[in-house]
Amino acid sequence: MGLFSDGIRSMDELFLHALEDIYYAEHQIEKSLPDMIAKATDTELKRGFDKHLEETRNQIKRLEDVFAKLGQEPKGTSCPAIDGIIEEANEIAGEIEDKRVIDAALIAAAQAVEHYEITRYGTLVAWAQEIGHRGVVSLLQRNLKEEAATDRKLTAMAMKRANPKAVGRKKPAAVGRKSATRGRKATTRKAPARKAPARKTTARKAGGRKGARRKAA
Ligand code: FE
Ligand code: FE
Ligand code: FE
Repeated sequence: MGLFSDGIRSMDELFLHALEDIYYAEHQIEKSLPDMIAKATDTELKRGFDKHLEETRNQIKRLEDVFAKLGQEPKGTSCPAIDGIIEEANEIAGEIEDKRVIDAALIAAAQAVEHYEITRYGTLVAWAQEIGHRGVVSLLQRNLKEEAATDRKLTAMAMKRANPKAVGRKKPAAVGRKSATRGRKATTRKAPARKAPARKTTARKAGGRKGARRKAA
């Protein structure tokens, strides 16, 4: 079913459509996670996916509570976006021959899923607030928070473990300024030049208009 094929005539119907979309998506995610758990090689990542499978099941229950509060039967509507994200994840995982890079690929695929969920829940929370569906806002917010937390954990796992492992490094690459300037020591040493304009700006601010006024007074 396309987004507007059954005729969405109001914001309430648009909200319900988005709810059915994420309800379908959560079910597809629930189905795909066991496969991700099986493919992951890192035990911490396996545990992370397993925990998120548990969370996903709870999220589905929360969505059912949302439907109930709205006096609607829980039902899904096809979501080509999540189907595509999951299909792409399966494709890439199937193409990987080097075992060391599989976790990095799985995390990237999982984060694409989380980001889809974050955008959907973010929208649903905003629309529920706007429409005045007060009772459902907190339920949707809880799902949103879990997706965001999962996304952050995946980032941490990628940076600390999966990515370094994928490039054959024992320790994570240095992050922040050090990594940005790694191998470019000369540039780093010249850095004080960058401080000068900042000092100038401060001086101008301090002695600028106020100073002028003081002189005038
Ligand atoms: Fe979810
Ligand atoms: Fe969708
Ligand atoms: Fe999720």
